[in-house]
Amino acid sequence: MILSFPNKKMFKNIPEYIIPVLDELEGAGYEAYLVGGCVRDRARGVVPNDYDVTTNAKPHEMQSVFSSYRVIETGLKHGTLTVVSSGECVEVTTYRIDGKYADNRHPTSVSFTDDVTLDLSRRDFTVNAMAYSRKLGLCDPFGGMDDLGRKMIVCVGSPTERFSEDGLRILRALRFASVLEFAIDGETADAIHAMKDLLRGISKERIYTELGKLLCGGYASRIMSEYADVLSVCIEGVSPEAIEKTSRVVASLEADAVLRLAYICRLSADMDGDTPAQHAAAVCKKLKTSSADVKRASLFASLMGEMLPVEKKDIKYLMGKLTAEDIRSYAAVRTVFTEDGAESERFIGEYEKIAAADPCVKVSGLAVGGADVMEKAGVKGQAVGRTLAWLLDGVICERLENTREALLAALDDLPEELK
Ligand code: ATP
Ligand code: MG
Repeated sequence: MILSFPNKKMFKNIPEYIIPVLDELEGAGYEAYLVGGCVRDRARGVVPNDYDVTTNAKPHEMQSVFSSYRVIETGLKHGTLTVVSSGECVEVTTYRIDGKYADNRHPTSVSFTDDVTLDLSRRDFTVNAMAYSRKLGLCDPFGGMDDLGRKMIVCVGSPTERFSEDGLRILRALRFASVLEFAIDGETADAIHAMKDLLRGISKERIYTELGKLLCGGYASRIMSEYADVLSVCIEGVSPEAIEKTSRVVASLEADAVLRLAYICRLSADMDGDTPAQHAAAVCKKLKTSSADVKRASLFASLMGEMLPVEKKDIKYLMGKLTAEDIRSYAAVRTVFTEDGAESERFIGEYEKIAAADPCVKVSGLAVGGADVMEKAGVKGQAVGRTLAWLLDGVICERLENTREALLAALDDLPEELK
């Protein structure tokens, strides 16, 4: 890890679109710092996800500095102006102090300040509380660089106070520890266990975002095992024991949050009588995931316990249900689940042969559609779907050729009970 800081070289290749943003602010006489995750990641020698800028320019001053740019003003009340530079969005935020927190979540007020150190003091962890200016160098009032070197997550200030202000920080500490592969400082760790119940008051959407990153981090197993009590508060319906039990294996699954969550659900399902699919769906719904994630998680949870298909037609049915990527994930999960790669290897060999021919595996791939079957077979309503499914069945099992003529002709033999 590069830690010889302040080191101008580290900031040599700032993306092109950031430069004018810094230039405009500095040219108008304001301070301009890169701040937060991007400073942390560059210091680690990692490409940042995005670059945030902080400045002493007040919101209305930022508006005039960037008057010739396309801007998005939705965050302006909280001091954030999104500036579109060469087509990329850059968030520029006025140095800010958060007022008292009313509900363990939201500051009741924010006020602006001229002091970058005060802005850094409202941030969650020392490694996230650093700012770098091309003119003024590194601002690191809380020892973030040292903690980066020690690979340590440490709260800025008192952990109990900081977690009472915003309970989500408890989970963010675990997320950063998992993703950065850092340890958590003793006092911060104690407060995490002691204050975990604050997470109950946090919106599920915010929880799920952090949880997803945590589950895919390099230290996911370690964090799940050491903080099973805390994660069980986040993943409602899954006990600390289940999290502990699944912690080791999770890391050998692909880094896909839904897949890993499905695995945890699969192994905790037996405990309350639901099927694995029902249990995974319930857990995801409580986490307010997208409906696509509910579907994937429940499908994965049920498939994990099933042998991979052997017959060509069964492989094709699976292809109709899962994307190519998910099919590979499923096969990889089976390797972990069965502790033997032979089943997956055979399956992937067969699957690739079948997929290479690009067969029809879905109703949408049939050479006829709903209107055709309505007209030819005289079916209506739900019978249309049943008829198309019957045709698909014929195509998948290779009783029927997927051509318009063959399918329309087959409708002459449509079984009565489907009509
Ligand atoms: P990533 O690379 O995952 O985006 P990040 O550090 O940029 O990591 P963000 O969630 O994007 O994390 O937040 C940006 C910065 O805002 C953080 O580095 C931190 O300084 C600050 N921050 C974000 N959320 C909080 C919070 N809940 N409490 C205090 N500071 C926060
Ligand atoms: Mg970020």
